[in-house]
Amino acid sequence: MAGANPGYGPLVKMMTNVDELEIKKFEALAARWWDVNGEFRPLHEINPLRVNYINRHVNLAGKQVLDIGCGGGILAEALAYHGAKVTAIDLAKASLSVAKLHQLESKLEIDYRFASAEQLVEDEKQQYDVITCLEMLEHVPKPSSVIQASMQLLKPGGIVFYSTINRNLKAYLFAVIAGEYILKLLPKGTHDYARFIKPSQLASWCRVYNLQLLDQIGLGYNPFSRRYFLQKNIDVNYIACYHKAEK
Ligand code: SAH
Repeated sequence: MAGANPGYGPLVKMMTNVDELEIKKFEALAARWWDVNGEFRPLHEINPLRVNYINRHVNLAGKQVLDIGCGGGILAEALAYHGAKVTAIDLAKASLSVAKLHQLESKLEIDYRFASAEQLVEDEKQQYDVITCLEMLEHVPKPSSVIQASMQLLKPGGIVFYSTINRNLKAYLFAVIAGEYILKLLPKGTHDYARFIKPSQLASWCRVYNLQLLDQIGLGYNPFSRRYFLQKNIDVNYIACYHKAEK
């Protein structure tokens, strides 16, 4: 009964764009977030590349940044380290607990919150200079809803970074078959091919919400040197950077 519970409305709204099974997968691995040789090793390895890319575009120092789908805080801490004032949100409680524990050691100032982007819109419209939403869109039922929320949360003139995996045969072979089964860079079942997102699909959602593409870049992996690198080719993993017009 909606009337009996004043929290019911926002709760339902918050929960409409979340896949509980995905959240459970991340909760089960939460203790591993900061193990650089564990399941999240690829995120640790790409972190300097992506943070430098972001910093080159926006100069993080002093910026109000929102990190959507922060997990254990790998990206959020790096953003704060570069001088950003970071708010970081996720719907996996265990991951947020790990993030807060790690923060005790790092002593970086980050405001971790249990919330979805859609839920944050109610109180924080146009509050952020920069939004990061990395490796998250492919885990939600309706990515366009996160894109709409990020547009609403950005200040006019603000910039948002999305990263995800392209959807084509090569991406399937590299991200799922090679990544999860051959090179075992990620646990099996981490990714669902049907949820991969073509850059053109991302662009068409962003167009609806008046976000303009500034730049996009690919991430490559050399299995011999075991190193990741930024590259022009966006066939598999990519980061896209969009701009919200001043008016
Ligand atoms: N952005 C981090 C972690 C990516 S893993 C990084 O790149 O290092 C994806 C994260 O998204 C997980 O922590 C998962 O719990 C979170 N997530 C999934 N669905 C979400 C939702 N609807 N709202 C907020 N976070 C969500």
